[in-house]
Amino acid sequence: MSVLPQSAGVDFHCHLDLYPDHEAAIARAEAARIYTLAVTTTPKAWPRNHELTRHTHYVRAALGLHPQLVAERAGELSLWEQYLPQTRYVGEVGLDAGPRFYKSLDVQVRVFRRILERCAESGGKILTVHSVRSVPTVLDMLERHYPQDRGAVVLHWFTGSKRDARRAVAIGCYFSVNGEMIRSEKGRALLGELPSDRILTETDGPFTEIAGRPAEPANVQTTIGEIARVRNVTADAMGDILRSNLQTLLLHVSERPAS
Ligand SMILES: [Zn+2]
Repeated sequence: MSVLPQSAGVDFHCHLDLYPDHEAAIARAEAARIYTLAVTTTPKAWPRNHELTRHTHYVRAALGLHPQLVAERAGELSLWEQYLPQTRYVGEVGLDAGPRFYKSLDVQVRVFRRILERCAESGGKILTVHSVRSVPTVLDMLERHYPQDRGAVVLHWFTGSKRDARRAVAIGCYFSVNGEMIRSEKGRALLGELPSDRILTETDGPFTEIAGRPAEPANVQTTIGEIARVRNVTADAMGDILRSNLQTLLLHVSERPAS
């Protein structure tokens, strides 16, 4: 991923293994030349995702333990730890304090803390982090357990306040923005405030829709146009910014030696 061609886009958070045909979804992302981070929700999904993306040019797999699944799958944490040396990408991980998952918040915090500590120890990891209704706690935990010089964090589908966003920027976080976020007034206002050099794009497919269908990596082109409009730059300029941000992120993290 070190030299990014002009036409490539970035989808830094997509659940390719949740489409009806996983292999075909990977092939479409490759054909569209979209740098795609294929996130997973349980460590049990890792071996297959890893296998299918070993030789792909644009698609990389991330090792996850989704906060919404932690209630049933906290026991898979040791499996997660076992697979960690196989990848530099981690996610989907984080916290979800929404009404459906609030009950498991204590376990979620314990699991997320362990994940951050392991990533800090190994160094050089890039995390894609879920923070629904829990942004201040997620930022507290990042500050405490995942020092900036150990790796990098991309906050996916960020819904915090402008103040939270400033705090996240101060601790080095990136933001992956999807089309759904731009549909609300609040989301557009927040997007207008983010520093250009911290923005990436994502689809979070198949959980977002574009034109009434589950979004796929190729659809980030639409999102790039929408972000460009909000930020008052051309779509081409925005595409350049996004590729440059991805490149900076990858270089920055590769300079962090593993311990
Ligand atoms: Zn997701």
